[in-house]
Amino acid sequence: MKHRLYKISLFIWVLPLTCFALPIEKTIQAEAPALFKIYKGFHQNPELSNQETRTAKILARYLKKAGFKVKSHVSNHGVIAYFQNGKGPTLMIRAELDALPLKERTNLPFASHVQSTKNGKKVGVMHACGHDVHLTTAIGLARLFKHHQKLWRGTLVIVGQPAEEIGRGAKALLSANFLKHLPQKPDAILGLHVSAHHAIGTVVYSPGWTTAHVQTLGISITGRGGHAAMPHLAKNPIYAAAELTTQLEKIAATHHKYAALSLGQFSGGTKSNIIPKTTHLKLSLRTFSKAQRNKVIKAIKDQSAGIAKKRNVQIKVNDGSTGTSAGYNDPSLSTHLSKALIPHLGKKNIMTTPPVFFGDDFSEYYQQTKIPAIQFAVGSISPKRFKATSKLPSLHSPRYYPDMPGTLTHAMRTMGHYLIYLFKKL
Ligand SMILES: [Zn+2]
Ligand SMILES: [Zn+2]
Repeated sequence: MKHRLYKISLFIWVLPLTCFALPIEKTIQAEAPALFKIYKGFHQNPELSNQETRTAKILARYLKKAGFKVKSHVSNHGVIAYFQNGKGPTLMIRAELDALPLKERTNLPFASHVQSTKNGKKVGVMHACGHDVHLTTAIGLARLFKHHQKLWRGTLVIVGQPAEEIGRGAKALLSANFLKHLPQKPDAILGLHVSAHHAIGTVVYSPGWTTAHVQTLGISITGRGGHAAMPHLAKNPIYAAAELTTQLEKIAATHHKYAALSLGQFSGGTKSNIIPKTTHLKLSLRTFSKAQRNKVIKAIKDQSAGIAKKRNVQIKVNDGSTGTSAGYNDPSLSTHLSKALIPHLGKKNIMTTPPVFFGDDFSEYYQQTKIPAIQFAVGSISPKRFKATSKLPSLHSPRYYPDMPGTLTHAMRTMGHYLIYLFKKL
């Protein structure tokens, strides 16, 4: 009896899922070779931030072909595309167009040999952050959702965003008011990113804070310069800077749970026999909330003031430029993500993680519009390679590569099921 009941309940549980899942599953599998070809095209022709002319053109062409309305050249290379399929929510996906100044060392048969110039120097160019995967997935999803219009109602928006790697593309699209090119404001904004440290078949996300607010801090220490023969007449700013540096390391340790403070640059002086007048330090401060930032900056300013007084030098702390805002994953979109994917990927393959101190300008969409957003990662390493080594190259490594076509199929499956779920739920 128990056994029969189990069978009936299993039947009831599985039936709607398979009815739902099978049509898109079939299309994803069938599309894999064509998408792999498109992926290779992007991978072999990477373009640096704000130089994404070809990439934007190709993305726009594929989206047009899939039946999307496309607006190109929004704030330089931005591509804004949408497909309306009746009354329902508007969901937006962001895909990044740019690659990195790196010489590829993967030895793949389709490795990039592209070179470009950056600051007057010749550099190799490589998609080492998986943006080629994100672009191809967006094209695959455009085709999938056009093909399976009976499975959803609403508007699907795809945004090709330039200049993510320099943290300026999202801000540029927002200041060009890219939303005006859409029939209505999105109800949710979704960002998918490959993970270099997770196996294909897994999904990782942080509910709430997810990526960091990245800020550069500059500290200048001014003393009195002089001849090395008469140090008693000078106020050597290097000693003050050295003392401050040890204090900065202590501040970093005290606040390490919610802040990453790193000293990246220490400069001052020209020659051993000249005591310089000034010394400069440059730090990167990564936090999530304003309160956390204020705490760390106050600790730095307090220590600086103490050392300045003791050594009779001037120390100025500049809050400096901000790279990216902190990324925030909407709590209900986070719950929807696991609910949507557990039936298709299995509970153990959906993982949550604490927020990371990396920055990604995907954060700007929520921070500037308050439209609920979520950014999550999909594993890109074949289970075999994942088991074989614990030393996988990270994103931005010239040796990183996602296994293909498994990564594309996994990304399509993940975003495909999530979108269908959200089109019904929101
Ligand atoms: Zn990157
Ligand atoms: Zn990236």
